[in-house]
Amino acid sequence: MLYDIIIIGGGPAGLTAATYARRAGKSVLVIEKNAFGGQITWSPRVENFPGFVSISGTELGDKLLEQAMEQGAEVELEEVTAMREADGVKTVVCESGAAFQGRALIVAVGARPRMLGLAREEALVGSGVCYCAVCDGAFYKGQDVAVNGGGNSALQDALLLSETCRKVYLIHRRDSFRGEQKLVEALEKKENVEFVLGATVTELLGDGELTGIAVTQNGQRREISLGGLFVAIGHAPDNGTYADFMELDRAGYAAAGEDCRTRTPGVFVAGDCRTKSVRQLTTAVADGAVAALAACDWLDA
Ligand code: NAP
Repeated sequence: MLYDIIIIGGGPAGLTAATYARRAGKSVLVIEKNAFGGQITWSPRVENFPGFVSISGTELGDKLLEQAMEQGAEVELEEVTAMREADGVKTVVCESGAAFQGRALIVAVGARPRMLGLAREEALVGSGVCYCAVCDGAFYKGQDVAVNGGGNSALQDALLLSETCRKVYLIHRRDSFRGEQKLVEALEKKENVEFVLGATVTELLGDGELTGIAVTQNGQRREISLGGLFVAIGHAPDNGTYADFMELDRAGYAAAGEDCRTRTPGVFVAGDCRTKSVRQLTTAVADGAVAALAACDWLDA
């Protein structure tokens, strides 16, 4: 079958794009490699998505999927490993060997937060280990937390958390930060923020729930009791498969503007895998709508 639109990535951006494209009467296939819902399935509770006071990330992901399928979107759980184009037909090839063809393509593959690579890190996600202070910071109100990283994300996370948490340790592997000086100065003025510099997080402590971390600083081991650890050591988009079809910026994000168009006619990009300053659920779903409508316009032209 030749689909009107193939959407790669079943997170909020991809599923929203599917809903919009189906409502515009296009045939749609969504291909997801892990779990429909994308990054939000890592969030125990989502409290910043309009219309829901509080909802688990998995439940919100399920609702987005249900809505897209209710509109008639088809879905496949497959990992896309290659893409090619010939005679106006885009073919995506999956690890299983399956291949799907579409006239337009929306790349909505998201970006994964980089992990520290520590033992039990994945098991403690949502139980003290977090990757998004905006999403999960409120759950640690009044507690001691740490942020690991030295870029703008880590500095902003530490500032945000310092408003509601009792104490914030900002742990960075170097003696100076990569992020903006203005943010560093704002943090220096905070009485409840302690810089732990030249330090590496080496252990996650606690069974089932994080109770603290061990860091190595100047060759010495130090344990810090914590309710939460916010890892902010960068994100990695997974755009490599599509590099022949769209510009990537230095960090690997698709260098497309707010219109979600790439340099290749009929190839659009939506959500966290696109260059943008605010990567949030709301901006991802906005991209999904924009990319879908742009794809429909392109198909109808
Ligand atoms: P980033 O700038 O790449 O910083 C990542 C930080 O994590 C660096 O300090 C790095 O240390 C550290 N790091 C990397 N791997 C590590 C590891 N395995 N263990 C410990 N530390 C590790 O990432 P980001 O802060 O997410 O920002 C990404 C981009 O978005 C940047 O261009 C940033 O300026 C931009 N941003 C902008 C804003 C804004 O408001 N304008 C807000 C957030 C982000 P080293 O310094 O040693 O490499």
